[in-house]
Amino acid sequence: MNILDGKKISLDIKSEIKNCVLKNTKKGLRPPHLAAILVGNDGASLTYINSKIKSCDEVGYKSSLYHYNIKISEQELLEKIDELNSNEKIDGYIVQLPLPKHINQNKVINRISPLKDVDGFHPQNFGSMSQGFDSFIPATPHGIIELIERYEIKTSGKSCLVIGRSNIVGRPISILMSQKSKFGNATVTLAHSNTKNLIEISKSADIIISALGIPEFLKSNMVKKGVVVIDVGITRVKDLTKKKGYKIVGDVDFEGVSKKASYITPVPGGVGPMTIAMLLKNTLRARNF
Ligand code: NAD
Repeated sequence: MNILDGKKISLDIKSEIKNCVLKNTKKGLRPPHLAAILVGNDGASLTYINSKIKSCDEVGYKSSLYHYNIKISEQELLEKIDELNSNEKIDGYIVQLPLPKHINQNKVINRISPLKDVDGFHPQNFGSMSQGFDSFIPATPHGIIELIERYEIKTSGKSCLVIGRSNIVGRPISILMSQKSKFGNATVTLAHSNTKNLIEISKSADIIISALGIPEFLKSNMVKKGVVVIDVGITRVKDLTKKKGYKIVGDVDFEGVSKKASYITPVPGGVGPMTIAMLLKNTLRARNF
């Protein structure tokens, strides 16, 4: 069994980005600037935003955080988005999801300028990605493809099961894995909560990408020997032995599945750090570096 070490690869990518920023700033160009909008005080969202901001510092980007009270109106938020769209000093920005229920998430995503949409969630970018055109690719699927590429995992002609069909992970990674490209060309099955015969499908899959958010859902009896497993799930599970009172658990029963897998991502330290690295990469692209 080999570990797909997202932490290590993300550090390599960050170092490449840092060098690129240095090269350009030495020429007198301003560094990339990533902004983030956060609404409310959800613990997980705060953690994600803080690590994104910290990563900006590490690679020499400028960053700005716009943190709003959970009661902010949809109109106020849309006005802030319009402001960021026209702010020439901000190259890209993200709106941390989920948003509170009184705000229409789709309306917000649609308002983001596709040119600054470094999360790749705008339908224009999603459509371009789906058709194989150059575009911002959502950070998590982008990170998975990068991990596969850097470990030179063969995907062409393989059967790939994606579990979960969200617009931010499952659906886009199912599209990328089936695309005609070196690290695609797989035959993809996209499973979701209404899939009836999941275990039959998972037992024959060469590659399994799990993004459903149920701790340790994928057990060793559901996979075949030699399978490549990419665990996207991040769930906080109560654990009073930890200082924070919880631990982070993935969708995969690592202990059991790793005994059968040829490659597997750990949680934490797999897809999570890759997501941040690819957000930084998308921002580099937004800055035209
Ligand atoms: P989501 O929560 O929006 O949707 C979950 C999906 O799982 C749905 O499409 C649903 O149909 C499917 N599902 C639920 N139960 C199922 C079952 N029994 N069998 C098959 N499919 C089932 O998904 P999301 O936003 O993509 O998040 C999924 C997980 O990935 C969460 O744990 C989230 O925290 C994590 N996540 C991690 C990263 C990262 O950087 N590592 C990024 C985004 C999301």
